Amino acid sequence: MSDELRDLYQEVILDHSRKPRNFGEPTGANRHAQGTNPLCGDRATVHLLVDGDVVKDAGFVGSGCSISTASASMMTESIKGHSMADAGRLAEAFKAVMTANASPDLLAEAEELQSLQGVKRFPVRVKCALLPWTALTEAMELYRQRR
Ligand code: ZN
Repeated sequence: MSDELRDLYQEVILDHSRKPRNFGEPTGANRHAQGTNPLCGDRATVHLLVDGDVVKDAGFVGSGCSISTASASMMTESIKGHSMADAGRLAEAFKAVMTANASPDLLAEAEELQSLQGVKRFPVRVKCALLPWTALTEAMELYRQRR
């Protein structure tokens, strides 16, 4: 990774952690799941407003480090308005990129998420980045079980 790219990624992460998008519980949210990362002290609850098969709105609350906050912010941005299937695929892709050396091209549709791949150099922080995604997956699975 070039220095320029690394700087750019750093800026994207800082921007999202300082001004988290979709912070809060959207009105009418009907799916919720909480995640914690004891290693870092991160806590995040993901709230979804699911209508039919579409994630109409998404938000999160909690407190965490800049990585978990930025990841939650970018995640909610990239799943809002998408189908549950798309959100599930994106979650799988993000986990694969962060933990299994999958190509970052998998995240081409949600480009900002690629900024988090630099976190892979710090294995302990990967858990921070994955925390909101694990909560998202849980919220969607609970949804499936109830149908
Ligand atoms: Zn953290």
